[in-house]
Amino acid sequence: MEQFTVKDFLTYRNPCFLCGTVNTVRIGGHIPSILPNYMEIDLKINYSNAIKLFIFHKTNKILSNNKDGLTQLLESRTLNLSSFCFNCSSNRSSEDLVFDLNKDIILPVKIAAETLYSSEGYKRYELISNYRDNRSFIHIWEAKTPSSKDINKELSLIPSSKFKTKEQFIEKMKLYALFS
Ligand SMILES: [Zn+2]
Repeated sequence: MEQFTVKDFLTYRNPCFLCGTVNTVRIGGHIPSILPNYMEIDLKINYSNAIKLFIFHKTNKILSNNKDGLTQLLESRTLNLSSFCFNCSSNRSSEDLVFDLNKDIILPVKIAAETLYSSEGYKRYELISNYRDNRSFIHIWEAKTPSSKDINKELSLIPSSKFKTKEQFIEKMKLYALFS
């Protein structure tokens, strides 16, 4: 399965290929400041015990102003990455980040789950993919039509890298619904 640096994960399919909107990205729920060579996250804002984490784009190396605080924080909680489109609600999230604090690095990141969502007229197309189980679920419905007519299918994983444009996504969804 495809593996990413933190930066590559957060910029993967961002802006949203379905609607063109720039996604909101988060690390453990915190919005990072993304600078040319690194990103900066305030994991804990507290006068006595602030924890800032810096992640370098090319190497996935980390640096913190408070390594003891970071070590303690990582013992008590996990951090993952997420990317959310506020316009169409498409989104993806990563597996929990794995930190190697001896080498000051974050190990390569994998996608855990992804939802693609689009519409055409009254038709709504949703593709929910679970990368852990290698499964995708298609849900197609029509606004104003009884939900008994919805199409629901479970298929093997369909990664979003299969789709280039919104039009192609919708065409493929129609084909999957018909022929699988
Ligand atoms: Zn979107």
